[in-house]
Amino acid sequence: MPFQSLSLCVDLYGCPNRCRHCWLGHMPNRAMAPDADARIVERFKPHFERIAFYSWLREPDFCPDYRARWERDKALSVNAVPKRFELASFWRLVRDPDYAPFLKELGVPAVQLTFFGLEETTDRYVGRKGAFRELLRATELLLDQGIRPRWQGFINEENREELVSLLALSEELELPRRCEALGGEFRFFVHTGSCDGEARKLYPIWIRRDHIPAPLIPHFLDYDALWPERELCRLWRDAPGSAAPHNDGEELVLYVSNEYDLYFNFTHMRPEWRIGNLNEEPIDELIRRAVEEDTPALRAARAVPLGELVQRYGSPASERAFSPEDYQAYLLNRHLEQLSL
Ligand code: SF4
Repeated sequence: MPFQSLSLCVDLYGCPNRCRHCWLGHMPNRAMAPDADARIVERFKPHFERIAFYSWLREPDFCPDYRARWERDKALSVNAVPKRFELASFWRLVRDPDYAPFLKELGVPAVQLTFFGLEETTDRYVGRKGAFRELLRATELLLDQGIRPRWQGFINEENREELVSLLALSEELELPRRCEALGGEFRFFVHTGSCDGEARKLYPIWIRRDHIPAPLIPHFLDYDALWPERELCRLWRDAPGSAAPHNDGEELVLYVSNEYDLYFNFTHMRPEWRIGNLNEEPIDELIRRAVEEDTPALRAARAVPLGELVQRYGSPASERAFSPEDYQAYLLNRHLEQLSL
């Protein structure tokens, strides 16, 4: 077994949002059986030395008893402690006065909050009226506890100028000074996100590299690794390798949907990417498929050269900005959609 460590992320509670950039894709919130968590871990236990168990893969702490839930996640983990990733639920932050103190108790130093521009745009992209005001309120609640907010913005052609206004708002609210007073820096960053899941629908308004407003460039995540689509098409026109993603770390990360379907953490959770079903198939076979990357999507991905994907699905005149990894995933998913897997 090449992997000794497993991170197991189970969609036990779902998510209050329906973001337009959601790379996982939208899924209904559905309650799983009360003992689903323990049963799932038991199936993997004989095969891994370490298992970090997460009761969420969409919104952390989106269950009423998040305190007990955190203790249970730790207790179910095997020779491992689940991480917090500086993530939290802004939905819960504004609804539950005990939640921000709970994050403080855990020693969470910073929490990421996601914006899509100003009020109307953020509400529309999160899929909930009031989301923007909740994000501002969550910012204050975190600061009150000595936790630094970190503002993340997803950029496209529609909201690029609003993100400049959002940066100005963070300065008006004196977030850099207030975070510095807490002993750290305020981070404001923007990026495109990946072009899969719901975000695939944003391709028509995907940001052009030359349209990124100058004030945002110093805040752009991995700006230097951003290419215009036409340039990636030119570079890869005859590329022989494949665009298949591959697990080359020491840890395997597996997602479990609320219907017990098993997925890698590579891209969206669509049927073609399913490894198998935990209720219907033997665990040995599911682990073999995961370790050997023997799934229909990955077999199909390895069978087609990157150059062919570019010739079939690339737009050689497009200025849209992509990282090479995200663009490969976009091309591959377009290809997989053409096949009936
Ligand atoms: S991006 Fe995150 S918060 Fe938004 S819908 Fe997807 S899982 Fe929920």
